[in-house]
Amino acid sequence: TIEAYDNNNIFGKILRGEIPCHRVYEDDDTLAFMDVMPQSPGHVLVIPKAPSRNILDADPRTLSKLMPVVQRLAKAVKEAFEADGITVTQFNEPAAGQTVFHLHFHIVPRYEGAALKP
Ligand code: 5GP
Repeated sequence: TIEAYDNNNIFGKILRGEIPCHRVYEDDDTLAFMDVMPQSPGHVLVIPKAPSRNILDADPRTLSKLMPVVQRLAKAVKEAFEADGITVTQFNEPAAGQTVFHLHFHIVPRYEGAALKP
């Protein structure tokens, strides 16, 4: 069983405007902003406005609105940061490395021969 969505998480606060973010994209269903501890410069997070804890409880309609934005921002970040590649990652539950319990996709620029920061 998956725990219920708790709107006290940090991305819920960002969505409500209670804490600031560096916004890079927004529409009726989706918000994207810079990660505060980027794995490489240009690390963007893309989240649905709908209250989903992670991909395990997300409504497929939420995902169908989110994924085209993930794709568009992956292309835009690759171009803007002159990356050789882009990693798109997404973690579900603490055992998988999830630390913020509002569904999010990471978009991380990658470069030939360069490891990510530890
Ligand atoms: P995950 O849950 O997938 O492991 O990662 C959560 C991500 O959220 C991390 O990359 C972390 O740096 C980022 N993060 C945590 N708190 C904040 C915050 O207050 N603002 C922003 N912009 N990113 C955050």
